[in-house]
Amino acid sequence: MAGNAVVGRFAPSPTGIMHAGNVFAALNSWLLAKSQGGKVVLRIEDLDEGRSRKEFADAAMRDFEALGLSWDEGPFYQHDRQEAYMDAFEKLRRARLTYPCYCTRAEINAQSAPHGMGEKAVYPGRCRRLSPQERIRLKERLASDGRSPSQRLEVPGETVEFDDLYQGRFAQRLDTECGDFVVRRSDGGFAYQLAVVVDDAAQGVNCVARGYDLLVSTPQQIHLQRLLGLDTPQYAHFPLLCAEDGRRLAKRNKDAALDELLAVHGSPEAVLGHVAYIGGLQPKDAPATPEQLLTHFDAASIREKYEGTVSIAYG
Ligand code: GLU
Repeated sequence: MAGNAVVGRFAPSPTGIMHAGNVFAALNSWLLAKSQGGKVVLRIEDLDEGRSRKEFADAAMRDFEALGLSWDEGPFYQHDRQEAYMDAFEKLRRARLTYPCYCTRAEINAQSAPHGMGEKAVYPGRCRRLSPQERIRLKERLASDGRSPSQRLEVPGETVEFDDLYQGRFAQRLDTECGDFVVRRSDGGFAYQLAVVVDDAAQGVNCVARGYDLLVSTPQQIHLQRLLGLDTPQYAHFPLLCAEDGRRLAKRNKDAALDELLAVHGSPEAVLGHVAYIGGLQPKDAPATPEQLLTHFDAASIREKYEGTVSIAYG
């Protein structure tokens, strides 16, 4: 751990080219860490092997550099960290906190209420208490499709509360609002919730700025930190930049892609200044470097703008 020094992080998933939302995320992380004299770690979140590509990771690093968003440590790659995730998973398994789940995605969707942005599906818990006969039947059914069960963490009927730097006090009851969640996927890969907790702790990250969509994952992550004996970082959830129709910007959303933004705005400073202006990080739409934006960054006034704001239209 880095003592009292602040350590933030960039944590891009290399599943496409960068867009304005990724730039906004990295800028927020950089400003929050640097405004406290801190460092930034770069972690490439390539857990999803099917969708992650090395060329997108390389492109993200080139883009961060072009924008002046520097990092102090890394890149660390999640694909190198399987042993650390396995150790954490084994700790949970040995404590009898995990169980195999035989539900298919379609079954889970059919059993859970629909959920919108910033909400999540709560697993109804079918596989938590199976009779030995049911377990065998479901296991065989899954095996006949050539599949294995996922592993879920059994959560208690407790409430996890924390103070988010931008969103204020946030609380969720683990059993009714989170539900038992997947820590190991059916393909044997480790779930985001587990990996992110293990990595943040191992990389000394104690200041996590990220999008509003992950606010609802935070109680689960704090619960995992407590079970694994890890420290909880300070969290700061900022609004997501969204397309005009309210959908979040996607990597396929061509006109928000960084290449396109550079072509429209002419320079990295102009792109950064525009994204900062839209996201409430500077008062006018003018070119700016990260250092210039840092001179008038103030987390308390940012909180006034961001608190309770799920998304900002990116125009
Ligand atoms: N890799 C995630 C993303 O690109 C971020 C996860 C996190 O910040 O915890 O959206």
